[in-house]
Amino acid sequence: MQILLVSPYELGRQPFSLAHPAALLRSRGHGVVLADLTLGSMPWETLVQFDVIGIVLGMHTATRIATSLLPRIRATAPQAKLVCYGLYGPPNTDTLRRLGVDHVLGPEFENELLRLLSNPETVADTASRVRFVVPDRIGLPALSRYAHLIVPDGERKTVGFVEASRGCKYLCRHCPIVPVYEGRFRAIPPEVVIADAAQQIAQGATHLSFGDPDFLNGPTHALRILEAVQENWPTVTFDATVKISHILAHKDLMPRLSKYGCLFLTSAAESFDDTVLGLLDKGHTAQDIAWAVRITRASGIALTPTFVPFTPWTTLETYLELLTQVRDLALINSVTPIQLVIRLLVPEGSYLLRIPGFRERVGGFSGEMLGYPWTHADPRVDALQTLAQRWVEKSETEGRGRLETFNGLWSLAHEALGRKAPTLKHEQAGPASPHLSEPWYCCAEPTAAQLADCAVGG
Ligand code: SF4
Repeated sequence: MQILLVSPYELGRQPFSLAHPAALLRSRGHGVVLADLTLGSMPWETLVQFDVIGIVLGMHTATRIATSLLPRIRATAPQAKLVCYGLYGPPNTDTLRRLGVDHVLGPEFENELLRLLSNPETVADTASRVRFVVPDRIGLPALSRYAHLIVPDGERKTVGFVEASRGCKYLCRHCPIVPVYEGRFRAIPPEVVIADAAQQIAQGATHLSFGDPDFLNGPTHALRILEAVQENWPTVTFDATVKISHILAHKDLMPRLSKYGCLFLTSAAESFDDTVLGLLDKGHTAQDIAWAVRITRASGIALTPTFVPFTPWTTLETYLELLTQVRDLALINSVTPIQLVIRLLVPEGSYLLRIPGFRERVGGFSGEMLGYPWTHADPRVDALQTLAQRWVEKSETEGRGRLETFNGLWSLAHEALGRKAPTLKHEQAGPASPHLSEPWYCCAEPTAAQLADCAVGG
């Protein structure tokens, strides 16, 4: 069969979610073409040639882009079996079916995809675990075209993107992984992860970015992989995502991670309001975030926190407090500006809907926004979020630095409270931290430009 696999968006990463099924399908004799819409365009003119079109929906932004493209894909390729797969597939099944999708698969899609395309007797039971193979990255744009790492001294590193596990053993209420994995995670065999790292290092990667939801869900597994990478490629550096409570629980591991080349850890701090942290069931407090900053810095690792600043429980005061904490912990240069304007997403199946009284606070499910819309009880908070988001998008387009962008948010937050913003000093921005060049985020709404870029092309 001729199969087209499409990734609408994957945070500037070369998608594992295309390369892994490509390896499985090619090994069974299928012809597979890969289209990464971040760096290329939809092959509209040749769509009629494909028997199957698979679209990966690994994150909110990707799903919003995909739903905007699906009517045209369906109309252009009526012959193709249309399959959507990934974390955001099952929660949006009704919407996807209405848009003409034939099959909706979850993030553990591989066996079911093979079954759809093959004789059912020749493939593993769909309920059985996926047998991971080394991803086949042939046909994807060169790694050098993807998001690169910017190191404070100005050096730019080509980045390889690897995954060592799927799912997560925690149940944070707002997390889209939770309704699907329900507290389970699975390790990808180390030999597969290391072989994938090796092929990307051979393509020029000098830094590896681990895309696991939490790299320390299985510390022994993580260390085994890092030891092998260190032994074979001692100058290759890495980054990973680790939750705040894991940084505290595994503080003794931090010097070792640093020794293995860890430049920074991304951590979902989410809020400095302990009430909100409790509602999200994050398992950490505002004080813990400050500890995590100290622990990582003491080992020479930068901490790059992510946030969900705008929730139904945010007040103008707590938003200003969040910015104040970012300043006081000298994190301004460590936080991607989009993180300071994210609005809580409530996807289908979200554990947030289990909070007593929460369902009554949100509207009916919206197929357009792929979630339950909510408005804040205090319209000034929604107005501030709109202004703040516009400012960050404008700053991104106009190339403003992090301190200047933060300064704009600082002023907006003070103005909303009728206060005069104290002047920020340059030294309060904190140390420049290594970061990836992709400024967007998996839970952010796509911009008009992102939607338009994917729609064009020939
Ligand atoms: S937010 Fe992070 S720690 Fe919490 S469930 Fe999701 S991946 Fe796991």
